[in-house]
Amino acid sequence: MRDEQRAARGAGANAGPGAGQDMDIDRAWGSLDARLAEITRRLTERYPSYRPLLQYGSPFQLLIAVILSAQTTDAQVNRVTPALFGSYPNAARLAEAELSELEAIVRPTGFFRSKARNIRAAAAALRDGYGGEVPREMDELTALPGVGRKTANVVRGTAFGLPAIIVDTHFARVCRRLGLTHESDPEKIERELATLVPSKSQYAFSMTVNFHGRDTCTARRPGCGSCFLGDLCPYPGPGGNGEPASGRSFAGAEPGGGRTPAGESSSGGPGSPRRRTRRPPEDDGGSD
Ligand code: SF4
Repeated sequence: MRDEQRAARGAGANAGPGAGQDMDIDRAWGSLDARLAEITRRLTERYPSYRPLLQYGSPFQLLIAVILSAQTTDAQVNRVTPALFGSYPNAARLAEAELSELEAIVRPTGFFRSKARNIRAAAAALRDGYGGEVPREMDELTALPGVGRKTANVVRGTAFGLPAIIVDTHFARVCRRLGLTHESDPEKIERELATLVPSKSQYAFSMTVNFHGRDTCTARRPGCGSCFLGDLCPYPGPGGNGEPASGRSFAGAEPGGGRTPAGESSSGGPGSPRRRTRRPPEDDGGSD
């Protein structure tokens, strides 16, 4: 079925210039499903501990930590959350916090005014609408202040064990290079990968692809020569030799290390971002 989808995409508007190469490598591995299963197997073998580094004691605290992680590192968030959760351990307490006190606590994470405002408003919404609990449904989560699809998927996958495709800039770049999508819009990438990756594997796949994008398949200098996915990758030709073929641009190649529209942050990811953009955290929108 997925190979039929791939064939349809290969002939469709979303095919992109690398679609032919993707289909060639899928045929070499038997099918897209077979290639994707091997990619997933190798990723989880390489990164067996793939949960976020954020420290939290409840789904509520995880949600707040992920909101705070926009445009900063998980390590930086972990430096402020002990004080934050020590004073405001639940939604009811955080909803009543003085904004100036919250700003002082979360200041090291950047964008501290909007983050303080968002976490207090999110806490109030949880207190008033959900008895202080974190909802599981995507539309309920994304209705909370400061919560986009990426943040919601991190919470759904990490706290509740639900299927979750977590699209950040690393995930988008690696999936394009691997020929798993030719989209650039984060929500379209999420929906496409959700049809390709089995539900039970989606969270692990998301997290391990993120690791791989930070470790090896970096924006500027992908380590194709030593990549454990090289024989599974069509970028920019089978074997992932890292050298663009002349006269051809390939979706996800990012010549010159250009940023993807997905933006960049560390929330839900296993490492530290190498570069940051200055974009308000309210714009999460599932894209950072
Ligand atoms: S072969 Fe290169 S482009 Fe492909 S996944 Fe590995 S590092 Fe990324």
